[in-house]
Formats: sequence, structure tokens, C-alpha cells
Amino acid sequence: METKILVINAGSSSLKYQLIDMNGEKVLAKGICDRIGPGGHIKHVTADGRKYEADVPMPTHAEAFDAFMSAMTGEEYGVIRSLDEITAVGHRIVQGGAIFKESCLVNEKVIEDIEALGELAPLHNPAHVLGIRACIRCLGDKVPQVVVFDTSFHATMPPKAYMFALPYEYYTKYQVRKYGAHGTSHRYVSGRCAELIGKKGLRIVTCHLGNGCSISAVKDGVCIDTTMGLTPLDGLMMGTRSGAVDPSAILYLMDKEGLTPAQMSDILNKKSGALAISGVSNDNRDICEAAFAGNERAALSRDMQNYQIEKYIGAFAVAMGGLDAIVFTGGIGENSWETRGDVCHDLGCFGVKINDELNRGTRGKEVELSTPDSPVRVFIIPTEEELMIARDTLALLKQ
Ligand code: AMP
Repeated sequence: METKILVINAGSSSLKYQLIDMNGEKVLAKGICDRIGPGGHIKHVTADGRKYEADVPMPTHAEAFDAFMSAMTGEEYGVIRSLDEITAVGHRIVQGGAIFKESCLVNEKVIEDIEALGELAPLHNPAHVLGIRACIRCLGDKVPQVVVFDTSFHATMPPKAYMFALPYEYYTKYQVRKYGAHGTSHRYVSGRCAELIGKKGLRIVTCHLGNGCSISAVKDGVCIDTTMGLTPLDGLMMGTRSGAVDPSAILYLMDKEGLTPAQMSDILNKKSGALAISGVSNDNRDICEAAFAGNERAALSRDMQNYQIEKYIGAFAVAMGGLDAIVFTGGIGENSWETRGDVCHDLGCFGVKINDELNRGTRGKEVELSTPDSPVRVFIIPTEEELMIARDTLALLKQ
């Protein structure tokens, strides 16, 4: 039987999609609609290389759906004859809070709960709901829809890892605690790493390093800790996000500069991180180039980020009682030999040894970097979040 799953990642002004044929797990077409609201633009590409790009008015997510569905079914750029060929839809959802511990089928209550969790993810969850509603409007309610949460892989963290040492009533009243993020990516790469090693009981540190950065400790397939917190702001410094900062520094600056919570949030999320330290860019490529050309702040930004990555790997090795493997993924983890090389060399105390030539020459490919005598194995595993969403969707259909 033909099974084609549509994977949707709806943001506030953009909507990414992939249509995956689950027989062979092949991507048939993918694309992005952006500038939803004030404008509208679609970029669509098929597996056989046909490309379509156009400005199309998209006042809401509904018109974005219409635009890519007609590309998908049209004569010139189509990959299916009609929408009836879509078996089911899987949606990426950023925040599942304490409610959603695993992926599930969509119904009205699920939509309401995702909407209510928008308090914890105001930039994401409301947009996901717009995506789900636009999808129902376009495909009708006969096509099953599934939601897959970035937080659910972290639902296995024990309270000692997820609690904040704040007055307890804030946990009971507002569910303020660590939820983590990038869970679908950590789940995929840790599972793939275990498959490649071919053993159970592994202690794996997964490093998802991209514009957003997070690291997880995965013991025997179960996440026991992660660096992101209540929101994807905690932990490592990122492209424009600060990562963990002494809370007093934030209070002090709000007081000194007369900043509102919204203004401070904007600074921490959009004007901090590598962008703020380097003064060059939020993009790892520009920062590396500037650092190697002698820019001291760019070099400091690299040093800070690498140092933080190493510290968390060390901390998580202790949390798991040892370390069997490290995985690099995300735009930086998959492509930046500089970051992987520096981090692995500084982990010499764990005996980590990698093949430098292989590291320098590898970009965006699944490969083992560690040498045969390294007690800790090191892998690059390109992440496959959309495929995981499609697999979860298919699995729920079969239940
Ligand atoms: P992501 O958010 O996963 O798309 O990752 C974006 C980050 O990956 C940016 O900081 C990019 O600079 C970085 N990146 C992408 N390609 C490369 C590359 N070839 N070398 C170094 N960094 C890269």
C-alpha cells in the first residue's frame, strides 16, 4: 500500500513542508512558504530536481497551504495526482509541556491544549495551531493528523534534572520547570548512534549545534538531562541567544536600563549569543572566518561556545556514570570541522581521539570520526527531524 506522509513545520510567518513516501522513506518534494501575513513567497523543490519559486499572496496560513498543495499536485512541479494520495499529516510542535509525553493524533482537545501551552512558547505554539487548522481546512477532517513534540523526548528526565530551585508553588501553579527542546533531533541521532554501534546500555551525549544549540544526555535510549530549559533560551550560548546567564545579571540590567520583560526577552533571544560577543554575525561561518583572520572578539565567541559545549559534555558524562559516544548534528555540528575538532581535542581527558583528516574533509555526512583506539566513539549524524515526525505519524496510524 502507498503511504505518503506530509510533514508540516508551521512558524508565525513561515511554513515548511515535506512529502515523504514511507515505502523507502524517500522525500518526494519539500519547500517553504514564507512572509505569510504581509506578503507571501513559495520555494518548492521535487526529488527529481524541479524547482518552483514565486511570490504568491498569503495573508494567512490557509493561503500558504493552498499554494504548496497546488504546486504539489500541479502538472509542472507536482509529485502526486491529487490530495487524496496524502495518507496523513505530521506536525512539528515546539512545546508539549508536561501534558504531551509522546506524539498523538490530533483532536479538538489536543489543539486546545497546544494553544494553552502557547504561554510557554508564544512564538511557536500559536503558529502551530494555525498550521493545524489550515491543514484541516485544506484536507478535511478525514485525513489523520499527528502532532510530534520537541519536548517529549525529554519527558523522561528525573525531577532532580528538571526542577528549578525556585519557590515550589511556581512549579505547582505555573509548571515552571525544564522541558528542553530539539527532542526529535536528539531522539533520532541517539537512536541512530546506538544502531551504528549495535549495543544496548550506551551512554551517549548528543550535541545539536545550529542556530539553536542544545546538548542531551541519553542513557540506554532514555534522555536523562538536556541543556535547554523552560524555553529554548537556556544552556549553551547560540547564534543570537544568550544561553545560561546569572539571573542577577538580568535583573541588574533591567533595573539599570529600565527594560520591560518583553525588551529583556528580545535582548536575550535576539541580540545576545555569538552575535553579541563576536560583533560580526550570528553565523558560525562568518565568525570562524573573522576569528582566523585575527578578529579577537570572533575568536572569543568561538572559545566561549566551545568551552561551554565541552563543560556540558563533561557534566553529562558524570550524570550518566561514563561516556560511550558523542554525536554532532545540526548546521554547525554537521558542517563545522573547526568546532568538532576543537571540542574533541579538549576532551582528551576522556581519551577522545578523532581522525583529524577525516574530520576536516567531512561535511553533512554520517561518519564515525573517532579512531579505533578511542574509548569514546565520535560520530557526525545529520539530523532527520522530518523523517522522525513521519515515522511517528505512520506508527500512530497503525495502532
Ligand atoms: P541550523 O540552525 O541547524 O540550520 O544551523 C545553522 C548554523 O550552521 C549557522 O551558524 C551556520 O553558520 C552553520 N553552518 C552551516 N553550514 C556550515 C559550514 N559549511 N561550516 C560551518 N558552519 C556551517
